[in-house]
Amino acid sequence: MQDPIADTVLAFLRDADPEAAQIIADEADRQETTIELIASENHVSPAVMHAMGTCLTNKYAEGYPGRRYYGGCEHHDHIERLAQDRAKKLFGCEYANVQPHSGAQANTAAFMAMMQPGDTFASLILKDGGHLSHGMKINFSGTFYKPVHYPLHYDKTHDRFEQIDYDAVRAVCQEHKPKVLMCGYSAYPRVIDFAKFREIADEVGALVMADIAHIAGLVAAGVHPSPFPHAHVVTTTTHKTLRGPRGGLIMTNDEELSKKINRALFPGVQGGPLMHIIGAKAIAFGEALKPEFKVYQEQVVRNARALAEALTNHGYRITSGGTDNHLMLVDLTARHADLTGKDAEAWLEQAGLITNKNGIPDDARSPMITSGLRLGTPATTTRGLIEQDMVQIAQWIDRVLSAGLKGEAELATQAATVRDEVRELCIRHPLANGTPVMG
Ligand SMILES: *Cc1c(COP(=O)(O)O)cnc(C)c1O
Repeated sequence: MQDPIADTVLAFLRDADPEAAQIIADEADRQETTIELIASENHVSPAVMHAMGTCLTNKYAEGYPGRRYYGGCEHHDHIERLAQDRAKKLFGCEYANVQPHSGAQANTAAFMAMMQPGDTFASLILKDGGHLSHGMKINFSGTFYKPVHYPLHYDKTHDRFEQIDYDAVRAVCQEHKPKVLMCGYSAYPRVIDFAKFREIADEVGALVMADIAHIAGLVAAGVHPSPFPHAHVVTTTTHKTLRGPRGGLIMTNDEELSKKINRALFPGVQGGPLMHIIGAKAIAFGEALKPEFKVYQEQVVRNARALAEALTNHGYRITSGGTDNHLMLVDLTARHADLTGKDAEAWLEQAGLITNKNGIPDDARSPMITSGLRLGTPATTTRGLIEQDMVQIAQWIDRVLSAGLKGEAELATQAATVRDEVRELCIRHPLANGTPVMG
């Protein structure tokens, strides 16, 4: 085993609480034997994994390093400063708040720092690739603020079909004069032109907020352009391509904004920080500063291209015509008009291929059905898979979906065969109880 500590932890838990331990062991086995293609997921290193299970969790450290509301925070100050310093170095910025419990919490604090309730902001709508926290009515962002949305190019004949329409971004901003112009998305496969967003924002006096939750790892490795110096505020998760613990991060180069952000997050949004997670963030940022991380991210992008190309060869359509980053949206209806994201997700799971259904731009189907699948390569690349494995995965996907279209019996047979082949590949590329070695 590459991670003997995980075995020891599980053995310990079996003594302490067999019922909970069995569930955790089952999940470790699921991760070990399935191919993870969900674009927002990854497998953290043993160091990141085990930092989360340390005594750092026992402490209340409300406040910030040097200014806490509780005694005994000496070492918590050190670990939080270490995480801040590494985040600043990694993304090349002046101020970093490492306390957000999640990406959504980071966005909440960033909004509070830049806007008053009722203020207008511009973003991409969720159905086009945006995020819940970018102005959905059912989210705080759409309840307390006024979202306006810029469209993609929906014109099939346009050479930037299904990509950001910067002229439309400008038009929306000129009309609505938003306080904040947001970019950064959850299901957008192309490069974001941060300089262009800044140019448009400057024309109307808006602040640029870049939510790089998905592409943070690529940005850190220089595989996607950086939002700095263009964005005023950058938010991200730490657990997607960045391959750290589940959490959030807010960054800026503006001292005034950094003070507002700190106050907005605590005491505005959160109470005590998750110090064990902040310890794991420090370790993950340290890993991301190593040369191996760049090699990893370059392979993530190569794998995404290989998977997109192989699926295209099987008759699927990749929205916008391809991918520049770690993810792609697959238009299933190009392969067969009856294929839905809902069916595809369920059928592929039977074969050990874990994906999520996702609307495609201008999708005629509801969000619970969808015409698309979102696929990403961060987790498979952590596992050590390369381009030729992506060609194999595309073939498995097509075999399962083709069988599913024929009927239940065909699906059951084909999914079982593919499941065995998936398991074999997983055995050749083991995780260590759900945690990989670096690179
Ligand atoms: C994933 C994501 C988030 C939210 O992250 P959580 O940690 O789940 O709250 C925010 N913004 C974007 C663009 C995301 O993709």
